[in-house]
Amino acid sequence: MPETIKNYINGEWVDASQGKTFECCNPADHREVLGLIPDSDSDDIDKAVSAARAAFPAWRDTPAPKRGEVLYRVAEILVKRKKELGELCCREMGKVIAESLGDVQEAIDMAYYMAGEGRRLQGETIPSELPCKDAKSVRVPVGVFAQITPWNFPTAIPIWKLAPAILCGNTVVFKPSEESPVCATRLVEIFEEAGLPPGVLNLVHGFGESAGDPLVRHPEVDGVSFTGSNAVGEQLAVICATQHKEFMMETGGKNPIIIMDDANLELAVEGALWGAFGTTGQRCTAASRLIIQDGIYDVFLKSFTEKATKITIGNGLNTKNQMGPIISTEQYEKVLSYIEIGQKEGATLHLGGNAYKEGDCAHGTFIEPTIFTNVKPDMRIAQEEIFGPVVSIIRASDLGMAIEIANDIQFGLSAAIYSQDVNQTAIAERDLDAGLVYINASTIGAEIQLPFGGTKHTGAGPREAGGRGGALDLYTKWKIIYRDFSGRLQKAQIDD
Ligand code: NAD
Repeated sequence: MPETIKNYINGEWVDASQGKTFECCNPADHREVLGLIPDSDSDDIDKAVSAARAAFPAWRDTPAPKRGEVLYRVAEILVKRKKELGELCCREMGKVIAESLGDVQEAIDMAYYMAGEGRRLQGETIPSELPCKDAKSVRVPVGVFAQITPWNFPTAIPIWKLAPAILCGNTVVFKPSEESPVCATRLVEIFEEAGLPPGVLNLVHGFGESAGDPLVRHPEVDGVSFTGSNAVGEQLAVICATQHKEFMMETGGKNPIIIMDDANLELAVEGALWGAFGTTGQRCTAASRLIIQDGIYDVFLKSFTEKATKITIGNGLNTKNQMGPIISTEQYEKVLSYIEIGQKEGATLHLGGNAYKEGDCAHGTFIEPTIFTNVKPDMRIAQEEIFGPVVSIIRASDLGMAIEIANDIQFGLSAAIYSQDVNQTAIAERDLDAGLVYINASTIGAEIQLPFGGTKHTGAGPREAGGRGGALDLYTKWKIIYRDFSGRLQKAQIDD
């Protein structure tokens, strides 16, 4: 029997107001239904936002170190339950078990890191130009935050948002992806177990249009943090701009790896495989374009193809499998349609390109590792985010051309270069237009203590993760305090 999942509003586990549910399945085997999920609507959103609003003053006034202690306890519980949560992530989202455990580890890292920020949430004291007067800046919470997440990091992305928002004194209504609701529920249970007061964190399940949209538009919501597709992010940006809400979005990528003639070949091949096919290509930072210099092109392609052919596909709970399924039938069809588009555009289908239905995979949504060669930089398969195990290989004659191709794209999340020439890597570091640049490493592997986000159409608003310059800037506003203890009227800027 699938588990009946509930919403969490004002400290109570409740059904959707209309009692409607939908099913959430294992993408490796669609016969396994993991949960019956509340199909919530604007009524549920109203209740959750009211609870968050009511809880806000007391949570704002709770000392930040005490707020941090809750996160510390969250981290401790996550550590104890890492294996169980990793296995759930694998069953619900499909990524192989090593990566699923990594997803939970990222959540652990963020919870510990933000717990510590509770004792470092400092502003500044700044000298005043007048005697007997002091001035300081303090961080204050924004208020009620809506947090909307995708499915590809079912534990890590939610905690990237929840931990700093809660630490900073905000209250939250969390609307997770409809594709990964069970992981989201376990996470909220852990916050409850860690002693978070009712109303500070509220969970409302459901779909984008019926639950996400009313949440973003709700007049009592002060800020929106969104990770997901570019199309949805841009819609939400418009709503938030007209309603003067704090807003951040992190969306898609079309991330390049440049491989220069002097690259360490073995390292570059390993990095390209991990970037292109890790998480079945379903990472915002996946390497979906490999830009290869002419001199290394043939030898690179031979080795990359040989290794890609050997990738084992299947249910990620089996540790011998290296690549799991595509999240949903809709996404599976989208990836297959891009494989057709690539061929129609005149690129060469060099490897893969088919649905994979061998053995146990017959009931899941699996696609072979797919390599396109003879790709022109302006083809749709080289410009649009596919979000599957499909990589486009593009030739370049020199570094300048490679960087131009890398940058000639609407996205700007992550970019990498493999070269042993310090000058070439320095030029790439300077000229690649992306939020994250990796030298002699793949496009994936961000660490939580640094800000994370992209340029151009990928991101808007303050960055996630990290501390100052990252998440703390998103979840707090600056308040400036002047205190005059002269006992007389002092006028700034006015000559005596
Ligand atoms: P999606 O945009 O379809 O959905 C994301 C979330 O938005 C879900 O919770 C969904 O229910 C909700 N949503 C959908 N329509 C909405 C609406 N009209 N109003 C409010 N909420 C709405 O994206 P997805 O398929 O879940 O995730 C894949 C995308 O996420 C990819 O484009 C990927 O690149 C991106 N992503 C980006 C990052 C990053 O940090 N840059 C990280 C992970 C994933």
